[in-house]
Amino acid sequence: MNIYVDFDDCLCETARAFSKLVYDMFEIDVPYEDMHYFNLQKSFQLNDEQYAQLLVKGHEADELLSYEETPGAAAVINEWVGKGHQVSIITGRPFNAYKPSRQWLDTHGFADIKLYCLDKYGREQKMKDSGFSLELEDYLQMKFDYAIEDSPSAFRFFDHLPDLNVLVFDRPWNQRAELPTANYRRCLGWDEIRAIVP
Ligand SMILES: [Mg+2]
Repeated sequence: MNIYVDFDDCLCETARAFSKLVYDMFEIDVPYEDMHYFNLQKSFQLNDEQYAQLLVKGHEADELLSYEETPGAAAVINEWVGKGHQVSIITGRPFNAYKPSRQWLDTHGFADIKLYCLDKYGREQKMKDSGFSLELEDYLQMKFDYAIEDSPSAFRFFDHLPDLNVLVFDRPWNQRAELPTANYRRCLGWDEIRAIVP
């Protein structure tokens, strides 16, 4: 079985960290539960300058390394590896966040899992021959049976796989999203995901 797993807000509690960071930086108080948009600028109602500052600060190594694991993520993924499943973490984080992201994975029980950076949100130029930056054409050659993803903006990366089972990690910003096909299922957490993937 080949399994795609998104990083932020599937493996770790990124949005909760951003909510705290925004309060520390700008004294803007938007709790996690009120983050109704995947777009952070919109969720926090930031001006362009604040948003730019947030993206820089939010991708610094210290910030990335401070994220809490989403409960159960490492346990379930390691069970899958033990069963012989192939797990790939495919993140839309900027390519220059690779090193601390890899470090976080290595220290939170995901050392054996491959990490790829795919430009999901049109933010990047390719970093040549980096070994982890995934060109869209190469991504499209990859086959998956299951995908774990929280962002409705990333659903378009599943259009080429009609049989893919997409487990949508329930988050405040995807609760109003229409799930594109019957292959999409909302999951409240890793216990539920564990019960679905054979
Ligand atoms: Mg995510």
